Amino acid sequence: MYRLKYECLKCGICCSIPQNLKDDYIKRIPLYPEEVDRLIEIAKYRNLPFKVKEDLVFPDIKNKKILVLTYRFILRPQGRCVFYDVNKGCIIHEEKPYACQAYPLAIRRIDSFNIEITIDPLCNFVSENYASLKDISIDRIKDIFVDEYPKAEKFYEKNKRLQLKIRRLEEENKIQISRQITLKQFNYALNNWDRKEIRVK
Ligand code: SF4
Ligand code: SF4
Repeated sequence: MYRLKYECLKCGICCSIPQNLKDDYIKRIPLYPEEVDRLIEIAKYRNLPFKVKEDLVFPDIKNKKILVLTYRFILRPQGRCVFYDVNKGCIIHEEKPYACQAYPLAIRRIDSFNIEITIDPLCNFVSENYASLKDISIDRIKDIFVDEYPKAEKFYEKNKRLQLKIRRLEEENKIQISRQITLKQFNYALNNWDRKEIRVK
């Protein structure tokens, strides 16, 4: 019986902004603060224009701080990750962030505090095998993405630890996250409050 196994087609789609998508399309490859620190050092050494933007943030109204949980790569203007070489692919394969290690498995955010492991349909391997990958069980995902699933689990666990840390800080009354904030208030906070990174091992 034919058993589907994931094999990267080395097309580079996951490291680039697809050309058919609009200018305002945002590709989210999440990076933890400590990954950003490491990538800054690698980029400095290789003289690459690595830039990130805050991604998952929470407004802490008790301390008037923006809590930063993750960043994401800025892929413009070059349209692809600075660590992607058109001939060689990813040039930091051994050091790439969790999100890239797990890909095409990804973490989908159900809401601010709940996540699940999914398969990214934008990956070429996934779109070519979509009929076999649609609505499959976790056991099938483990079987098809043998190397990627353990990495996705680590990625998932790290996300969970971050969410738990936020909850614990709230319970200890060290922070207070507003869930009622209007867009206007949120934008004011983004423009005026200092940042505090939330890190977990
Ligand atoms: S770090 Fe490597 S795998 Fe990740 S987006 Fe950049 S080039 Fe692609
Ligand atoms: S989009 Fe999928 S098949 Fe293409 S390089 Fe990325 S992981 Fe590999």
